[in-house]
Amino acid sequence: MSVSLWQRMSTDEVRTCGVAIVGAGIAGLSAAIECEALGIDAVVLEARAPGAGASGRNAGFLMRGAADNYARAIESWGRDRARELWRWTEQNLEDLLALGIGELPSFSRTPSCLIGADADEDAQLRRSAELLREDGFEVSLISPEEAPDDAVWRHARACVGLVNPNDALVSPVELVARLADSLRTTPILTGAEVGSITPTDAGVRIETARGPVTAERAIVCTNAWARTLLPGIAVEPNRGQMMAFRPRETSGVPLAHAYYLDHGSEYIRPGPGGTVVFGGARKYHEEAERCASESCTREVQARLELLAATLYPGGIDVLDRWAGVMGFSPDGLPLVGPAGHERLWACVGFTGHGMSLGHRTARGAVRDMVVGGPPRFAIDRFAG
Ligand SMILES: Cc1cc2nc3c(=O)[nH]c(=O)nc-3n(C[C@H](O)[C@H](O)[C@H](O)COP(=O)(O)OP(=O)(O)OC[C@H]3O[C@@H](n4cnc5c(N)ncnc54)[C@H](O)[C@@H]3O)c2cc1C
Repeated sequence: MSVSLWQRMSTDEVRTCGVAIVGAGIAGLSAAIECEALGIDAVVLEARAPGAGASGRNAGFLMRGAADNYARAIESWGRDRARELWRWTEQNLEDLLALGIGELPSFSRTPSCLIGADADEDAQLRRSAELLREDGFEVSLISPEEAPDDAVWRHARACVGLVNPNDALVSPVELVARLADSLRTTPILTGAEVGSITPTDAGVRIETARGPVTAERAIVCTNAWARTLLPGIAVEPNRGQMMAFRPRETSGVPLAHAYYLDHGSEYIRPGPGGTVVFGGARKYHEEAERCASESCTREVQARLELLAATLYPGGIDVLDRWAGVMGFSPDGLPLVGPAGHERLWACVGFTGHGMSLGHRTARGAVRDMVVGGPPRFAIDRFAG
């Protein structure tokens, strides 16, 4: 994306505000909600429309923790960090419920369930359940005998399932709309692609496709597109592809859980009206999926169909196919903090967990930026 000379010069009127927020996904809208809570006049600058990015294209899992299991998270981040992240995601859901997302038509308290791809992952799931209990989290392990008779337990290689009982599912588009509707005073400027942000003595000057904006501070919430405005930032775009289908055979019960399979490589959930929503398969085409395109590819879609066929041997009718772009950080955690200047912040790098992390993280980012305080996922861990 870029801004032309003609767009930039389309108006001379300079809009001014306290905080300019770039991007109207979950993160940007949540940042705007926090600005209102702090009494700051903010403006959201969005290139397309709210939820046009990953926030309107994801699977809708409001899951505790990350896609991979707790034992692996502890290996990667250490016990304190992993515990903190799991708590943070629980609180993220509580905060969203406080905004009324529990009343959205698509919202359901559907527990998530992690299923192992091999004996090694089964052992990790068992260990994860022990560690989660030790750390005070509610969790259960189920075996095929106690499992629901749905397509995953009938046809996937499932020996053990780790169930997070309090997780939820939602339509991400409804969630984004609820966040946008929560704003009382903050305008969302659509079609306002940002071409550049320049720190000045008094704040920042932002060139947009709808004219210039000056603000005391700016926060970039463009996740996968973070590098367009902040070239040095350690966030890489990665595409995720999905499909929705209707199973031809309806034996067994509908999917009882929102499932993560093979370390989160594939994810499958019940969709509206008896449909199934299925995504993933990036790992088979990693190089090609390292891009910022929102188009589907034949290869990944074919792989998804192949995987779906193992779960639904009676056949499926594909209803929708789509793709979205995530912003991956090197350690899988968000990046929050000043991006080269104390008045220009970033809140990006959600690495596939923005539904579970984005709202609370962006609200915290605004507080830390305005009130002061070390950000939770400090950006300077990748300085240099
Ligand atoms: C297929 C898929 C499935 C996923 N499933 C899940 C899931 O089930 N659970 C979960 O927790 N997470 C999931 N995620 C990840 C989650 O969707 C993201 O982490 C989250 O939506 C990121 O939100 P965001 O607001 O940071 O970014 P985005 O929603 O991508 O918003 C960024 C916005 O910035 C705008 N923008 C970009 N550049 C500019 C510019 N220069 N000027 C102005 N505006 C600009 C874009 O148009 C966009 O609207 C999934 C992602 C994908 C792609």
